[in-house]
Amino acid sequence: MGEPGVIKKLSEEVVNRIAAGEIVQRPSNALKELIENSLDAKATNIVITVKAGGLKYLQIQDNGTGIRSEDLEIVCERFTTSKLREYEDLKEICTYGFRGEALASISHIAHLTILTKTAAAKCAYKASYENGKLKAPMKPCAGNNGTQITVEDLFYNVIARKKSLRSPTEEYTHIIEVVGGYAIHNSHVGFTLKKFGENTDLKTPVNSSVIENVRIIYGNAIARELMEIELQEPTLKLCLRGCITNVNYSHKKGTMLLFINHRLVDSLSIKKAVDSIYSTYLPKNSHAFVYLSLELDPRNVDVNVHPTKHEVQFLYEEQIIEKIKSCIESKLLSCNSTRVMYTQA
Ligand code: ADP
Ligand code: MG
Repeated sequence: MGEPGVIKKLSEEVVNRIAAGEIVQRPSNALKELIENSLDAKATNIVITVKAGGLKYLQIQDNGTGIRSEDLEIVCERFTTSKLREYEDLKEICTYGFRGEALASISHIAHLTILTKTAAAKCAYKASYENGKLKAPMKPCAGNNGTQITVEDLFYNVIARKKSLRSPTEEYTHIIEVVGGYAIHNSHVGFTLKKFGENTDLKTPVNSSVIENVRIIYGNAIARELMEIELQEPTLKLCLRGCITNVNYSHKKGTMLLFINHRLVDSLSIKKAVDSIYSTYLPKNSHAFVYLSLELDPRNVDVNVHPTKHEVQFLYEEQIIEKIKSCIESKLLSCNSTRVMYTQA
């Protein structure tokens, strides 16, 4: 038997870096947090520029409220937020972020720069951060109202993570999914996505509609087959809205965009339920395009089950899924019978 290991305490910097790497696992996770911050800041236009799938460079520019210069000193420290004052607020919170961790996390694993201006300020301010702290005093400069956040060399100090994310193309695919999803869900906000120095890949206008944005992002073959669904279920405190393709459309992969309380999430159980309904109407091994927005009582949703807030747990899951299924089923039935009647006429 060998000698017992000597136990040492990790430095705070390393602890923070590990924690940050759990919250931000790939560029699209960071981008999601940044988009949600821009939406929380009431932006109506959001422009995203990336290099190498966001691994080298990820920039998001919004025209929201901006950050007050007196807050720039602490904005990247952990647990600093303008969105939560009391623990009690957690129950009622309806903004996306509420833990004050996104900017802090990113600053521990990337070079982060903020350029921001509030409407009341005479000029913009620029500040760069490292490990949650200002790197140097912030500088006054020219700039528009709103906030521009630049994240460079993500995971530069997390070598293992950097090695595991080898394909910028794959990372860019995740980025397109996130931007596309938020653009469809927030059709009143204009979104632009482009690669640095290249033409725009995706652009939705301000005050567009869900269906129009699906057309822009996923194409007309899907958009022309979309049907809107809606359901209110006061007893479950459930409000469902969405757009789903009718039985004329099928695709071997399919798309599922799920928002719960305005946050893009994954839910295997909802996905399975939706697939099971469509399976009776679509050719074998093919799938639909489904966009669902679920609003649930925030007290019934736990978004903190997973550090990336990707996986969501909610109360009354079984009953809620039954409601979603029957809502989709009756919509598909109604469009199916119209189609039959139409062919017979
Ligand atoms: P949280 O969103 O949980 O509060 P973040 O680390 O994401 O935590 O952001 C910290 C704070 O920085 C926010 O509460 C907000 O006050 C400010 N902030 C971040 N991004 C923006 C933005 N794009 N526009 C205005 N304020 C922002
Ligand atoms: Mg946030």
